[in-house]
Amino acid sequence: MPMTRAQSTQATTHRTTLFLTVILLVVLSLLSLWLNVDSYQSQKRSYLQYSASQEQSSLNSSLRALSLHALTIYKSSLFKDSVFRLMANAHHGTDAEKTIARQHLYQTLLPTYKLLSADYLRQLHFHLPGGISFLRFHRPSMFGDDLSSARNSINLVNQTLSPVSGFEEGRVFNGLRHVFPIIYQEEFVGTVEISFAMDALFNSISHGHAEYFNLMLRKEHVTRKVLPSERDNYQVSEVSDQFMVDKRLYLSSLNARQPTIPDDFRPKPPQRLTQSEMTRLHRAVRAEFDAGRAPDLQQDHLHHLVMTLDQQDYLIHFLPLHDVSGQFVGYIVNHQRNQALAEMRQDFWRHLATNQVLLLLLGWLGYFYLRKLVRRQKQLAWQARTDNLTGVYNRNGFKRLLFDSMAQSRQEKTPLSVIFFDIDHFKQINDEHGHLLGDQVLKHTSDLISDGLTRKDIIARWGGEEFAILLPDTRRTDAYKVAERLRQTLAADQSFPFTVTASFGVHTLQSNDSVDSFMQTADSLLYQAKNRGRNCVVVSKND
Ligand code: GH3
Ligand code: MG
Ligand code: MG
Repeated sequence: MPMTRAQSTQATTHRTTLFLTVILLVVLSLLSLWLNVDSYQSQKRSYLQYSASQEQSSLNSSLRALSLHALTIYKSSLFKDSVFRLMANAHHGTDAEKTIARQHLYQTLLPTYKLLSADYLRQLHFHLPGGISFLRFHRPSMFGDDLSSARNSINLVNQTLSPVSGFEEGRVFNGLRHVFPIIYQEEFVGTVEISFAMDALFNSISHGHAEYFNLMLRKEHVTRKVLPSERDNYQVSEVSDQFMVDKRLYLSSLNARQPTIPDDFRPKPPQRLTQSEMTRLHRAVRAEFDAGRAPDLQQDHLHHLVMTLDQQDYLIHFLPLHDVSGQFVGYIVNHQRNQALAEMRQDFWRHLATNQVLLLLLGWLGYFYLRKLVRRQKQLAWQARTDNLTGVYNRNGFKRLLFDSMAQSRQEKTPLSVIFFDIDHFKQINDEHGHLLGDQVLKHTSDLISDGLTRKDIIARWGGEEFAILLPDTRRTDAYKVAERLRQTLAADQSFPFTVTASFGVHTLQSNDSVDSFMQTADSLLYQAKNRGRNCVVVSKND
């Protein structure tokens, strides 16, 4: 019986330890997952924020560089007495004098205009005070029209007499406009505009070839500004119906060829975004907008969007664009292939896998440690309930079981008997043969009696050379028979050169018995057996 109990204890230990380890492992694993996800997300967030601010600052510096470029053109080529005098003549002169001034101005500046128009200069345009067109270098035959209703930049210079720079949509073209006042002998005699196409800006912001820029203007802005006859220059944006794109810019950006690079050039620049790639990307972005997952472009804000197509990440920045009056008119959209996000993702999986493997290892070690701990604890608990010498329960262990057995017996209305027995003249054995042999007698008697019991019976060393046996589901008469059989077995045993006998008291649980009275009755019956001359069984009378 003790063997079976030990085996089942071991199985429980194993299950408990395994359960605790698995719980601990799951908790740690979830914690590690949460930490990894959190760190990945914050890393991604700060990368995207950094990237957006980089794009915004590139745009700002390119805008400043172009303004400076315009100022240089103005100062080096236009800020001349001969040019300003012609404008003063035009301002004060008759129509005929205006014509002469226009022709002179055209002839004087045509070589400069031709030279600069090769480098993105889109317009060189002189106006008289009040915003009256005087000389368009790109269309010299058209003049005299009033621009004040369409061109806020010119109006602003007329009002402030200070230069104005920025994006502005005109009746026909959009561009980066730089308007300077012409002041001749302290008199305001007109304005001059130096404009660049947006390509100039895109080319200077671009960090590499794997980028694609787009100009998206708010639909109502285009409708309000551009002449109906010129609206063909625009088409509805592929990503949002609320925006329009400049067709020429769109095509020039898409058709720009990959620069020829020598084969041995290292590092190899990334391939330019192809037209089909852009088309697929636009379609995917459109789907995002339609599904309401994309940022709200009506908000004047720096937005970004990450798209993944065929395992390739694309980072799209919507850089808000304001015109010379500070009005939000649309976005400069930058599309780029992105490697960093994929690397971050790989890092995330690598870290997660490493952590999980380490945790498994830790769990494995933890399992063994815990198993040892639980085993030790169970062993201690077992020891507290067991007698060292005989290996059966001690009084403490017996009492715990007795309590449960009594409750069970009363609940199930089954009989419960107890046998108390005490070795006869044990003191004499000790005295005659020594304590050591006395111990052997105790151990042997315990084993002999245990062997004569069934599995459900419980034997314990009550103290000294006195033992108690609990017999569940056993009536008084049957308990008496068991005691008698045990008495005879012991008396007939010839393991020692002397005969070992014991006296037995048998009692069956009564309705008025408490734990103590139940045991005390059996104990007193045992002493009755002693008084009757030992080596006999005395059983309680009441039933
Ligand atoms: P009775 O027949 O009336 O029971 O006489 P007895 O000698 O058996 O009883 P008594 O109570 O006089 O003596 C019991 C002895 O048992 C005394 C004690 O030293 C001895 N004893 C108690 N525990 C142990 C033990 O663990 N080992 C050994 N060797 N002796 C023990
Ligand atoms: Mg005795
Ligand atoms: Mg005794």
